[in-house]
Amino acid sequence: MKIALIAHDGKKADMVHFLSGFKEELHQTEINLFATGTTGSHIERAGFKVTKLLSGPLGGDAQIASMAAQKELDLVIFFRDPLDKHPHEPDVQMLMRICDVHNIPLATNPAAAEMIFKYLTNSKETWNQRQ
Ligand code: PGA
Repeated sequence: MKIALIAHDGKKADMVHFLSGFKEELHQTEINLFATGTTGSHIERAGFKVTKLLSGPLGGDAQIASMAAQKELDLVIFFRDPLDKHPHEPDVQMLMRICDVHNIPLATNPAAAEMIFKYLTNSKETWNQRQ
């Protein structure tokens, strides 16, 4: 199972906090984490193995959109900061559009991500089927 993780600057701490709540599940199951550059560094420091792509404003969101378009992702968790401006807003919109085009589950806040993770961890078969 391949999961992409992106967090805007104001939401990076939330991302680390969220993942830490599922540390056991994320280590036990065969899960590959991918993240935009800076988000990835934060996640790595929290003890997770993650493949880091370019930083979001430099094309990381576009790389993740490309993976989604090629059906290389099972889930995208994208903690957006709705109270801040982003120079790469077109990429942000593009990533969300591509997820919808290809029916890739997309969580844009911790509440939604938690529901998806709880669902997945409660139905191990689902984790495994989607791999
Ligand atoms: P970053 O990118 O992880 O490199 O900060 C995230 C984003 O702003 O899209």
